[in-house]
Amino acid sequence: MFVVLLGLPGAGKGTQAARLKKDLGLAHVTTGDLFRQNIAAETELGRKAKPYYDAGELVPNDLTIGMLLERIHQPDCASGCMFDGYPRNMEQTVALDQALAAAGKQIDRVVYVEVAEDELVRRLSGRWLCPRCAAIYHDLSAPPAKAGVCDKCGSELTQRSDDKPDIVRNRLKVNIENMQSLLDHYAGQDKLTTVDGGRDPEAVAADLRKALEG
Ligand code: ADP
Ligand code: AMP
Repeated sequence: MFVVLLGLPGAGKGTQAARLKKDLGLAHVTTGDLFRQNIAAETELGRKAKPYYDAGELVPNDLTIGMLLERIHQPDCASGCMFDGYPRNMEQTVALDQALAAAGKQIDRVVYVEVAEDELVRRLSGRWLCPRCAAIYHDLSAPPAKAGVCDKCGSELTQRSDDKPDIVRNRLKVNIENMQSLLDHYAGQDKLTTVDGGRDPEAVAADLRKALEG
């Protein structure tokens, strides 16, 4: 099964994908993490992507689509995966549809996790991440047992450089501009379910599972 998790930054895509990965055994393909890994490793792709990433802009399509295609040709995606953070515009959507069609596959389901903008800002400003195992926390709604330390692997938690308020504003603007065309595309293919992502993670997860099983 190939699934797209759509949602604005902070909607809880990564949080839900971690649960689904455990429950459904689907590989988690997240372009944001791939860019962060490339930027940290100072690869050529990372050097090219960094100025866009730092400004909260979309990384150009040629770089993003190339990276995505390489990722989905890895063995763990052979029978399906969850896309998180991709596609973010129509050119990326068409490139993904074409790549899957060339392999006799297609996107099976798309779930839009809808969250109000003021809640997104609240979530992003309190987000903490584990740099080693990628676990996601929040100051208020999902705090680690010991402040600043990952419950799962004991590493020191960090905040994302692009979760600063002025960059968050730009990321939301850029993503809001593009979202409607993605929703229209997948609704037109009768693949789209919208879930209310403004509730607690368990309630959102239950609706997501229903949407994916239905
Ligand atoms: P995304 O991957 O869509 O950018 P994340 O999964 O990283 O979003 O979640 C953003 C922040 O919001 C994190 O700090 C996370 O702990 C918190 N969060 C995620 N889902 C919920 C929820 N349902 N209710 C409250 N906070 C949440
Ligand atoms: P995310 O982790 O999904 O919030 O993405 C963090 C940043 O990575 C974005 O602000 C963009 O700079 C870049 N990025 C992630 N996914 C994409 C994408 N599909 N297209 C373009 N840029 C992306």
